[in-house]
Amino acid sequence: MGEPTLLPEVKPSYGDLANFIGGEWRTPRATEWLEDANPANGRVIARVPLSTKEDVDEAVQAALAAWDEWRETPPLSRARYLFALRDLLEERFEDLARVLVQDNGKTIDEARGEVRRAIENVEVASGIPSLMMGYTLEDGAAAGIDEEVLYQPLGVFAGISPFNFPAMVQFWFWPYAVATGNTWIAKPSEQDPIVQSMIFELIERAGFPPGVVNLVHGAKDTVNAILDHPEVKGVSFVGSSAVAKHIYARAAAAGKRVQAGGGAKNVLVVLPDAKLDKSVSNMISSCYGCAGERCLAGSVVVGVGDVHGALREKFTDAAARIKVGYGLDETVQMGPVISRAHQERVLGFIDQGEAEGADVSLDGRGVKVPGYPGYFVGPTVLNGVTPDMRVAKEEIFGPVVSVFEAAGLDEVIDLINRSPYGNAASIYTSSGKAARDFRYRVRAGNIGINLGVAAPMAYFPFSGMKNSFFGDLHPQGRDAIRFFTESKVVITRWP
Ligand code: NAD
Repeated sequence: MGEPTLLPEVKPSYGDLANFIGGEWRTPRATEWLEDANPANGRVIARVPLSTKEDVDEAVQAALAAWDEWRETPPLSRARYLFALRDLLEERFEDLARVLVQDNGKTIDEARGEVRRAIENVEVASGIPSLMMGYTLEDGAAAGIDEEVLYQPLGVFAGISPFNFPAMVQFWFWPYAVATGNTWIAKPSEQDPIVQSMIFELIERAGFPPGVVNLVHGAKDTVNAILDHPEVKGVSFVGSSAVAKHIYARAAAAGKRVQAGGGAKNVLVVLPDAKLDKSVSNMISSCYGCAGERCLAGSVVVGVGDVHGALREKFTDAAARIKVGYGLDETVQMGPVISRAHQERVLGFIDQGEAEGADVSLDGRGVKVPGYPGYFVGPTVLNGVTPDMRVAKEEIFGPVVSVFEAAGLDEVIDLINRSPYGNAASIYTSSGKAARDFRYRVRAGNIGINLGVAAPMAYFPFSGMKNSFFGDLHPQGRDAIRFFTESKVVITRWP
């Protein structure tokens, strides 16, 4: 008998989730609650309150009350709370990763990667005393008249995040918001919010002053209450394009700052001079990692010219070898999708592709995992797809990949640039000229060269173009510092 490979769950269930407001755990006024299930087995592991307008107002008032003192706290002192939190996140690293698997469905290694990325944002934001510095020019206005720029916080900000990176995405924003002297309200996805509740236990232990960082659970109506609250100065959002557009419009109309990342349809293109075996294994992790529920996932694979036949075969063979199951089993390579509804949507796309004439050369419909009656879809490859088919154009957000052939690189760049999405695109080639041409011409925010998941580190912005991003300044790093501060110009004639 081999060694058991299933890691233990942190707890079998997490009960009714509470909000964290003004430094206290509070029972929301919500009268409606959603059931939150483990996607691998469908078992309910928590209940999520749909917090009301009054709950949101309570959080805003707490954040506002905390702001006066917080903005006067010196930047290095603010950063010390982040140092403390960083250590606590390291201490509970493994538990956070396991909860992520239990609530979201990703594999344990994917979950560990996500928690690592979250921590990296805390680390980068801790550099706030340098990151937030303004600039000065002596005699900038005239002889004896100096001019300077100061970056100042605005007040209360809120962050609304999607289900697919329930730990990390909030960290793209709030460490920067709080380090720069603002206060914060987090509204995680209602589909897998448990990890945020656990993170807020650590935020509490790190000793942030009450009201600096707050947590409000809920869904659509909770979000709209945040958008409509006059004391919320800005909103950071990540989610689907339709909702991103709504957030952008509603928040901007109310005069708020807004950054809103949207959906994606990412193309991976392989040229005949690519190192094929290496490229295929990299593309497999791009397309099927996180069960395709990743805004940087490859969704369309295009072989240019001669390489197409070999690419199609090798890609399909490699996809067929992926082990599907519960992510707490360390040998599993792909977990379930988030919910029954999403599973049905993804399966519907496969049916649709087939109806439109695609060849389902690897069929993930009907994949079963013994002992886990959850929301699984097996790795799926659709061949013979043409650019006009729905599967080639729309975001599926599951382990379903369309493979097609193009005569030349120009045709693929044209395809990418015509897409309403512009999140990511990757090229596999040994040619510096082709890679440079791709980087130069492609209208997508995150470009991979011989790399299928172009995920920017915390000190680079997480970019996005067209319907993949609404707003001016992207999350993470220096751009985040600009988003969370306003510039004040001071001109001094010295007496
Ligand atoms: P979603 O848009 O359904 O939900 C995101 C958040 O918005 C949630 O917190 C939800 O409660 C809230 N929300 C949902 N509908 C709303 C409405 N009508 N009004 C107000 N708020 C609403 O997204 P999702 O399904 O949780 O996440 C998947 C999507 O996120 C995919 O489209 C994916 O590409 C995208 N995504 C984008 C990025 C990026 O950086 N661009 C990163 C990760 C995920």
